[in-house]
Amino acid sequence: MRAGRFAVGFQLIFRSLVLELIVRHVPGCQNDDQWEAGIRVLLIEDDDEIGSRLMDGLAGAGFTVERAETGTDGYCMGKEQDYDAVILDLGLPEMEGMEVLKRWRAEGALMPVLVLTARGSWTEKIEGLNAGADDYITKPFHVPEIAARLRALIRRTSGHATSIISHHDIKLDLGSGRVTCADKPVELTAREIRMLTYFMHRLGRIIPQSELAEHLYALEEMRESNTIEVYISRLRRKLGADLITTVRGLGYRMD
Ligand code: CA
Repeated sequence: MRAGRFAVGFQLIFRSLVLELIVRHVPGCQNDDQWEAGIRVLLIEDDDEIGSRLMDGLAGAGFTVERAETGTDGYCMGKEQDYDAVILDLGLPEMEGMEVLKRWRAEGALMPVLVLTARGSWTEKIEGLNAGADDYITKPFHVPEIAARLRALIRRTSGHATSIISHHDIKLDLGSGRVTCADKPVELTAREIRMLTYFMHRLGRIIPQSELAEHLYALEEMRESNTIEVYISRLRRKLGADLITTVRGLGYRMD
């Protein structure tokens, strides 16, 4: 009996060591030391220069950004996937930005939407807000301003008045990435913080492993589903074994 338990324990330790090795050696899993805000954003912008500048700037500020270049693609991505926020240009091929927004809202999609408008176009701003935009920003813009507006929007829509969100005795500062547990600082890597943020914004919901992988790695990066297990086990080790429940066959849940 005792020998059996020992064998199971040994197997688990061996498995997690192997998974750690995989994480360290899979390309795209190594840049784990830079703070990222744990926010997944859909950018719908057809202009290549503006699109690339925003992608680079927001990635540098720690966001995971996926871009659509037409209204139709953007509409489908926003409908099918779970984004923390959307940046929406209005003048788009195939489907106008305003139409994209109206459709989402008519279908009950609630993610915060930041609309990009041309300078001085106050009618667009009013029309956008009436159609369900949460905020707008005028071109030309500064990327840090967009990053700040996005963070504010996400805090507002997830019901957190400050940049600190807490759950049981865990506190997470979205601005600095600092985490404390029972008032003691806890060292987490950027990806661990992103995963923790994702869970804390979705308490009580079962999150499939595929959704976590999508959130953790941008579209073009490698998605290894077993690396998710590694991050889950690290979070449990650092913040408490009961923090995240495994729901067999469905995913994980934080209560
Ligand atoms: Ca445009």
